Amino acid sequence: MAKTEKCLFCGKPATLYCDGIIGWDADEDENHHLSNARGIFTCDAPMCAECGTWHGNIFFSGKAGGMETRDYCPLCQALHVSGDVIREDLHRKGKAIREPALQAEQAAIIRKAHWNSYLNEHRRELNAIQGGGQQCLPF
Ligand SMILES: [Zn+2]
Ligand SMILES: [Zn+2]
Repeated sequence: MAKTEKCLFCGKPATLYCDGIIGWDADEDENHHLSNARGIFTCDAPMCAECGTWHGNIFFSGKAGGMETRDYCPLCQALHVSGDVIREDLHRKGKAIREPALQAEQAAIIRKAHWNSYLNEHRRELNAIQGGGQQCLPF
């Protein structure tokens, strides 16, 4: 964690990265079954402990054993509560694994859009305050 990184949601020093799942680094066959999972692309939003929601510890056994915590940012937490995922693979609707198999570049684009969905809302609020109560219609 870089020292300069700030919480995406409140601006305090960030101590966590969001573990919300964007998609899988895996192979996919013609029936959209995933195999050969190499990794998971996560939301990775920098955040402070107050903005994150703790989802428990994951324990690893074996040589690389240890413990990792899983935390969701407010965006991923909202999706989680409503039973949604950041990006659903339309071919796997209702399946246990609904997140798509992605390339790193695709994951980066989805991550940006996901973060922006919050930042845009935040900005809209600021505009409303600066507008002194006047309504600014976007047309
Ligand atoms: Zn925060
Ligand atoms: Zn997140």
